[in-house]
Amino acid sequence: MCMECYVNENRITPLLNPLDCLANHTQYICGTCGRCICIEHDPKRGLQRWNFPFKSLEIAKLYLRTADYSMKKPCGIYEIKSENRRLSYKIFADSEDVQFYLKKNKGKTCETMKPIFIVEEYKEYANTKIRKLTSDEIQKYMSER
Ligand SMILES: [Zn+2]
Ligand SMILES: [Zn+2]
Repeated sequence: MCMECYVNENRITPLLNPLDCLANHTQYICGTCGRCICIEHDPKRGLQRWNFPFKSLEIAKLYLRTADYSMKKPCGIYEIKSENRRLSYKIFADSEDVQFYLKKNKGKTCETMKPIFIVEEYKEYANTKIRKLTSDEIQKYMSER
């Protein structure tokens, strides 16, 4: 597992429309393994990809580093159950944010109110880059997938 971005598949992201994401969105470029993680703010709501729910814990883990980096601390992945009993996985900076979210989203619950995944300690790394890729870098990255 990459100690910086917590994932061992170093070219797995972006998951959806990778070319579009790499070309148009600011990326967290892992200084350790080179993995690119979308860290773009949605222009309408100011949210980043990690603010949205994920279908599985594994997918949420792919984005956890961008949450930790943005909040400058270890964020938690929480299991959220919706009214129709479907589970989703959402990253929150702390349990107060979870409570706020549940208050605003009636019908959603979090059984344990504890993260199912969180890293022990937040660290910064010297070679991390936050920027858009050049077209040469995009080509190279895609060829390595
Ligand atoms: Zn993106
Ligand atoms: Zn990495």
